[in-house]
Amino acid sequence: MTFTSQKIKNIPPYIFSEINKKKAELTQKGIDVIDLGIGDPDLPTPQPIVDKLVKEMKNQQNFKYSTYSGCAEFREAVSSFYQKQYGVQLDPKTEVLTLIGSKEGIANLVPTVVNPGNYVLVPDPSYGVYRMAAHLADSKSYSMPITEENDYKPDLEQLPDNIKKQAELMFLNYPSNPTAAMADLSFFQQAIAFGKKHKIPIAHDFAYNMISFNNPAPSILQVEGSKDITVEFGSLSKSYNMTGWRIGYIVGNKNIIHSLSVIKSNTDTSQFLPIQKAGAYALEMDQSILDKNVGIYQKRMKTFVQGLHSLGINVKPPGGSFFVWFPVPEDYTSGTFANEVLEKCGVVITPGSAFGPYGEGYARVSLTHSVERLEEAVQRLAKVL
Ligand SMILES: *Cc1c(COP(=O)(O)O)cnc(C)c1O
Repeated sequence: MTFTSQKIKNIPPYIFSEINKKKAELTQKGIDVIDLGIGDPDLPTPQPIVDKLVKEMKNQQNFKYSTYSGCAEFREAVSSFYQKQYGVQLDPKTEVLTLIGSKEGIANLVPTVVNPGNYVLVPDPSYGVYRMAAHLADSKSYSMPITEENDYKPDLEQLPDNIKKQAELMFLNYPSNPTAAMADLSFFQQAIAFGKKHKIPIAHDFAYNMISFNNPAPSILQVEGSKDITVEFGSLSKSYNMTGWRIGYIVGNKNIIHSLSVIKSNTDTSQFLPIQKAGAYALEMDQSILDKNVGIYQKRMKTFVQGLHSLGINVKPPGGSFFVWFPVPEDYTSGTFANEVLEKCGVVITPGSAFGPYGEGYARVSLTHSVERLEEAVQRLAKVL
């Protein structure tokens, strides 16, 4: 007896588990493994945010339940952040909801708007949670290929008519994990026009909103009329190095946000108040504190991209996120390349196929290590290539 539902049994084995097993074996043998697989910042949470948390932790009033949709302080901070950063107005009461990390909101959004059996349009390659959320909600996911040739944007007009009819949600994500691609407002305009024409709401995952190197990443809500069909997810995890804190938000269309709050108020009671209040502080503080982090990622990105060039792998320097996405050498699949790099160099990279079939032929590295470690990783790669 396994006491496990068919739905859970139908989840394919975790693609990282074999890599993790091999990594553990090598580490046990005393090999110094460089793990460029995980997307968890190595940089610290800025101290003023930590200080604010400690201060709020000393107030017993903060140990009570939060209101279901999150405390007013946090939602107001999100609203003024959008005003300052993007010139977008949001009603903190109806157009902003606190999330326990954006992953939670992404997973709960699917059953909020999609009926069982209907489609969720998912970029391929992409963050695995979109697809898994569709599976867990008894919906179907449909891959929208994003490839180098189309600048990692889905070709929406090419979607088959029956899929357009049965689709009840589309996910987009720029700056993109894993491809590091950026989008401009004209792409978002097209996507919104498409969504309106076919009555498909759009959820834009903006987890890397503050990590861009040349031009600031636009919010999809900057498109006029976007709120009719659009929500946007934000997270403090990557911008402020707060992955373990579990704090994020969803903004935009108030009907969708209201429906999501119905699911959430029946399954959770929002985030711990001191964390929300420290999160509010993070969004309201002088954002130039982030420039230093972005500068660090940019330096690392240049180091790694140059390293790849020296190995004969040419990639355009990405415009944002903290990933580099590159083609694996000929004669390898994503999987065989990742395996060989781990076994022969002790370097963990993520095979592109882990993000969907259209990621085959590519690999992703996270720039969550020092320039010196990245240089060493490149030197080790040179041995295999
Ligand atoms: C890291 C990440 C998230 C999750 O962020 P949390 O707010 O920590 O849950 C969501 N989307 C993408 C694309 C990510 O890379």
